[in-house]
Amino acid sequence: ATGPGRTPREVATHCPYCALQCGMTLREEAGRVAVLPRQFPTNRGGLCQKGWTAAELLDHPERLTTPLLRDPVGDELRPASWAAALDRIVTGLRAVQEGHGRDAVAVFGGGGLTNEKAYALGRFARVALRTRHIDYNGRFCMSSAAAAGNRAFGIDRGLPFPLADLGRADTLLLVGANPAETMPPLVRWLTEQRERGGRLIVVDPRVTATARLADLHLQPLPGTDLAVASALLHIALTEGWIDREYVAERTTGFEAVRRTVAGWWPARAEALSGVPVADLEATARALGTAGRVIILTARGAEQHAKGVDTVTGFVNLALALGLPGRPGSGYGCLTGQGNGQGGREHGQKADQLPGYRRIDDPVAREHVAGVWGVPAEELPGPGVPAYELLESLGTPTGPKALLVFGSNPVVSAPRAARIERRLRAVDLLVVADFLLSETAALADVVLPTAQWAEEDGTMTNLEGRVLRRRALRTPPPGVRTDLEILADLTARLRGGAGDADASDPRVVFAELRRASAGGTADYAGVSWERIDAHDGVFWPCPAEGAPDTPRLFADRFATPDGRARFHAVEHRPAAEEVCAEYPLHLTTGRVLAQYQSGTQTRRVAALRRAAPDAFVELHPDLAGRLGIGDGEPVRVVSRRGELRAPARLSTAIRPDTVFAPFHWGGAARANSVTNDAVDPVSGMPEFKICAVRLERVDEP
Ligand code: SF4
Repeated sequence: ATGPGRTPREVATHCPYCALQCGMTLREEAGRVAVLPRQFPTNRGGLCQKGWTAAELLDHPERLTTPLLRDPVGDELRPASWAAALDRIVTGLRAVQEGHGRDAVAVFGGGGLTNEKAYALGRFARVALRTRHIDYNGRFCMSSAAAAGNRAFGIDRGLPFPLADLGRADTLLLVGANPAETMPPLVRWLTEQRERGGRLIVVDPRVTATARLADLHLQPLPGTDLAVASALLHIALTEGWIDREYVAERTTGFEAVRRTVAGWWPARAEALSGVPVADLEATARALGTAGRVIILTARGAEQHAKGVDTVTGFVNLALALGLPGRPGSGYGCLTGQGNGQGGREHGQKADQLPGYRRIDDPVAREHVAGVWGVPAEELPGPGVPAYELLESLGTPTGPKALLVFGSNPVVSAPRAARIERRLRAVDLLVVADFLLSETAALADVVLPTAQWAEEDGTMTNLEGRVLRRRALRTPPPGVRTDLEILADLTARLRGGAGDADASDPRVVFAELRRASAGGTADYAGVSWERIDAHDGVFWPCPAEGAPDTPRLFADRFATPDGRARFHAVEHRPAAEEVCAEYPLHLTTGRVLAQYQSGTQTRRVAALRRAAPDAFVELHPDLAGRLGIGDGEPVRVVSRRGELRAPARLSTAIRPDTVFAPFHWGGAARANSVTNDAVDPVSGMPEFKICAVRLERVDEP
């Protein structure tokens, strides 16, 4: 116990926010929790402003500490007991499933949930509810890179090498990534890389904080990254920089790619993207002639209706240069959410079972059903990707009830006004969260959950390194963990007593290990003790005595023949092109002091001071043409809706493009405007480009 006069309590854990999962120490003294930076291989003692202030939410006055039930009289959320809340949920779920079938209930998870929760959520959906409808917000984050990685390498691990490799790269190409704002401690690796004489090249439509660090910045029109990738490979072919031995021995399918990129003359890519031929040539040379070369993509390249193909274009380039599996070289993706990697491995995706197994694979179904103690034929089949799921809610053929854990789709989903209407249309909306997010505010039942410093568990960072999250204190009275909630609901749905083991993260993790054994993301050899004894454990790790795998692909890829697969991909236009009525491109993204939908960071005083409001970034030339002054309110209008926010004039953006961060709801909600066109392979929506017009708001 702690308190005045008592010994301070400390625990070594990790930041609750992004996928860098910076090491930190939490210290509680006299009831106050302080964050201290901790040496860990990824952040090396660094923290960003979000991490430094993460403990502020533990005792925040807006924290939820009792369930809330919607009172039909007055349509208000009112405090209720846990028994009343859980009864309402179980009665509602039963009514919906009896009236409309099992698939009339859906579950929506999040990339911030621990591995144990993601696993338990998938099991809850498939076994307790027996619905096929479960997906999660990682579909909006990582799904394009995941799909591209799977089809090229047979495996999806964000970085197939430790982060430290970045510091030793002779050339590092960052495409659509802005770690200087999204994960600042990572910049130390970029600084080290440049101090060692390496070249940093950034591809981004904006002059971001990361682009300012670069030796060379390519500033393409949004949506033309694939043309850039094709031109770079074209130049590498022409100049003879292809690693022909590697291509012959370790890959398949190169000939079709060679034919496709033959038509991507640099001048053609320049005409489309606006990137000068000289810059394309300089980039190709830096990639093709250096020793250690790393190519990384992030959301800028991935959040498109052609996101999988765009990532594939850069994977093709990396393979042609012989990078993946070579020491200090390779292709990787910078995962965004805290457990964006682990969140997609344990079965909260529509098409997956634990261990990154396909749900339509009979062998996988048999294995996981055995662990779960149910007949394989009773496991539901694949569901649908997140946007399709949300968009179908409350429709005649769609789910009539939805349970949301750790996600805020009212702010984070594309075409958000439509999704908000769908959420209002269901018979039962349940949201588990520790703050009243915009989505929770619409719910019939809100369940108050524990925060990161109040629970044990594991997270898997952007390197595929499994880490321990450690509890500093117990949750406040009235609050339960997500695992306790799932165990309670499962017991009530069965009409039986609760099972304490089902809510114990250590027990759940032990079951997760068995369920993942033999799968792609094999955690069988990852124990909490082993994580504690080292700086985490890299999957795959198939047995307690077996080594873990910091580097993948040294000898073979995870495909049946061990070879990586090229895929010929062609640039195609954005799903929505500019026109006379909507003459500008809108691209969306992040700012340093806010995280995701802002539910947490908008409530932290220091972060609110640093980034109090949304804004619309536009070039001074465009502002001059439209008669807009810096700070004046503007309206961004698309075919789907509008957002209002103050103008921020900046030469960092192209004159044909405007930028809006997506962390805010209400009138400033960027996703009121974004396009809901999705990638046909990954289901990723096109957050990064749509057609808009900009108007000055003449306020009275
Ligand atoms: Fe937390 Fe990410 Fe900031 Fe590190 S970089 S302190 S993990 S938000």
